[in-house]
Amino acid sequence: MIDINTLQRDLLARVNESETPEQVLKAPEFRDLYAQIPTLDPSERGAFGQRVNVLKKAIEEAVAERRLVLDREELAPIDVTAPFDINSALPNLLPSENGTIHPLTREIDRIADIFNRMGFVRENSREIDDQYHMFESLNFPKGHPARDDYDTFMTVERDQEGDPLIAPAHTSTMQNRSMVKYREALEQGDPIAVVVPDRVFRNEDLDARHEHTFYQVEGIYVAKGVHVGMLIATLQKFLEEYYGKKLEVRVNPFYFPFTEPSFEFALSCPFCDGKGCSVCSQEGWIELLGCGMIHRNVLKAAGIDPDEYTGFAFGCGIDRLVMMKYGIEDVRHFESAKLDFLRQF
Ligand SMILES: [Zn+2]
Repeated sequence: MIDINTLQRDLLARVNESETPEQVLKAPEFRDLYAQIPTLDPSERGAFGQRVNVLKKAIEEAVAERRLVLDREELAPIDVTAPFDINSALPNLLPSENGTIHPLTREIDRIADIFNRMGFVRENSREIDDQYHMFESLNFPKGHPARDDYDTFMTVERDQEGDPLIAPAHTSTMQNRSMVKYREALEQGDPIAVVVPDRVFRNEDLDARHEHTFYQVEGIYVAKGVHVGMLIATLQKFLEEYYGKKLEVRVNPFYFPFTEPSFEFALSCPFCDGKGCSVCSQEGWIELLGCGMIHRNVLKAAGIDPDEYTGFAFGCGIDRLVMMKYGIEDVRHFESAKLDFLRQF
């Protein structure tokens, strides 16, 4: 007769010492236990079978836990909520008499400067981030179907929740960090006003409109009494400054998990003033960016009371803005290192 309690202690000890704990589930003692059932009095068989199942379940759970511990020992030693709080230092620039600033770098500085004059501070994004900042902090819980819209690259290394680190597919990864960083000032009456113009990545089939590496400017503004009118006015002012002319704008309802309500923001084509041309596909309007009021759950995740504060957020593709401004027909030129392209700027 096998004593189940003694056996359970013995098996658990084996699991916790093993580098391959799954093997313990195949221990011959289980077979012996099942073989014992027909030898029992029929009235005892049911209870005994249940006890064996409980044992099996306990061992399975212990194996799963042991597996997590073993895997975790191989993980990068990082903090799950902020794996890399700084990017590596930028290298010193090479001395050059003939070189020019890359057109994207120059336009990013212009964009940041316009927002800076409107009171926004500039933050940098990460080139590797965790899934908490990519998704969870932005109201995409694990398993949320909208995660599939952000197909990007992942590393072999995992964070301490066991998720692969990720090359961010949007600069919205900085929303939570920016809100946490400036939360104290918010409580003292200063709005949070941040823009993040930086590099993002997608696993795309490449063509004239799609690159695996491109640029976005994310913006957030949080204070008391912020409303949609302020969002629209801010974006309109920015675009008019950037294109140097008066523009009509239009918002249509859209869906993003991290804003509610969400909008797609279009401007009247700056090239034909809404009459229709090749840049706007004869529409007169150009859908340019996504925006909306920051979702309550996103504010809460940053420790901000959504009953007291509201805010807006927007994300805009920089490559597209620049392509429209200069009539560039193919997004791949930017990363191509073609000098005949770059020398035009
Ligand atoms: Zn047009």
